[in-house]
Amino acid sequence: MKIHEYQAKEILAKYGVPIPQGKVARTPEEAEKVAAEIGGKVVVKAQVHTGGRGKAGGVKVANSAAEAKAAAEQILGMDIKGFTVETVLVEQAANIKEEYYLGITTDRAARRNIVMVSAAGGMEIEEVADKTPELIAREHLDPLLGLQDYQIRSLAWGAKLPKAAIKGIGPFLKALHKVYSEYDCTLAEINPLALTEEGTLIAADAKIDIDDNALFRHPELAEFREAQEDDPIEAEAHKRGLTYVRLEGDIGIIGIGAGLVMTTLDVVQREGGSPANFLDIGGGAKAEVVTTAIDTVLLDKNVKGIFFNIFGGITRGDEVAKGMLEAIEKMDIKVPIVVRLTGTRAKEGLELLEGSKLIPAATMQEGAQKIVAAIAA
Ligand code: GDP
Ligand code: MN
Repeated sequence: MKIHEYQAKEILAKYGVPIPQGKVARTPEEAEKVAAEIGGKVVVKAQVHTGGRGKAGGVKVANSAAEAKAAAEQILGMDIKGFTVETVLVEQAANIKEEYYLGITTDRAARRNIVMVSAAGGMEIEEVADKTPELIAREHLDPLLGLQDYQIRSLAWGAKLPKAAIKGIGPFLKALHKVYSEYDCTLAEINPLALTEEGTLIAADAKIDIDDNALFRHPELAEFREAQEDDPIEAEAHKRGLTYVRLEGDIGIIGIGAGLVMTTLDVVQREGGSPANFLDIGGGAKAEVVTTAIDTVLLDKNVKGIFFNIFGGITRGDEVAKGMLEAIEKMDIKVPIVVRLTGTRAKEGLELLEGSKLIPAATMQEGAQKIVAAIAA
């Protein structure tokens, strides 16, 4: 789960991280009022679940309350990478001299959490990692020992931070690590950590992503979740009780079991297709679930065809076939559907499908080839 910058800053502040004084606003008038309360120079920042807001024009410095109002007028309602800005954070502007990057995430390959520090902060860290990886100092954490003082020193020196920052960075990293562990984060970042003209350090931007599977341990975050801007189709699929992830392609994928579905995505890709989604209808799926699954996949208007990959274990092939027949009878499906059905009662299932407009396939690979060909036709 992604949370907003202002929410991430609220959490960090609880752990002692200095953040600029500020408040959220939902209208230009509110922004003006907050700016007047703060007094002096402020920044008005779009609160959306994506990075690169600065580049997109979603972060503006304002020298007065009137300017803050004007900035909020421009930013509210703005579209940033598909997200509409509904709230802005108005906060005291810092006199930024230098910008650094601090981040913690999980390095799956190393099976460790990793802490990263860079003097090339402010900009998108992915770009730094891509073009000048040597500018990022990294330390893997022992899961039992956590973040050690020697690692903090090594990160600070490794990133070639100036003296003022080397001294001050410890508490920021410790707090960030504490938040990362206690909130079951998948990502916790301060970017930029700003060194001000006055020589102090302050978290000018923060990003926290929380592992969805751990949300039950953080009931206090429920209010953050309500503000979540989910993909509308994913939200609907979850409401329908389906394990669905939207992707960018045009071939709808439906299968049984996460492993099989993921393999299907790979095989379709290898055959030159582009999957539109991941959808696992789960073991023991009955006819009704199949209908719902097809309907859900078709909510995505990019879908030009569907590939059903069924390996019947506890799920019976004839049940799935019935579901498909029911679905195509009830729904006016205009896209081709390829079905690979094997396992328990596959023969009975395939017999049921005979004479329908569903395209049968004997293997996963053949199915992938057939659906790619069908949508190209
Ligand atoms: P992002 O682009 O979504 O990561 O948003 P950030 O909050 O990181 O803001 C982008 C950039 O705006 C920062 O790297 C800073 O250069 C600038 N910025 C943000 N807050 C302040 C501030 O208080 N004062 C000044 N002068 N610049 C700021
Ligand atoms: Mn940032």
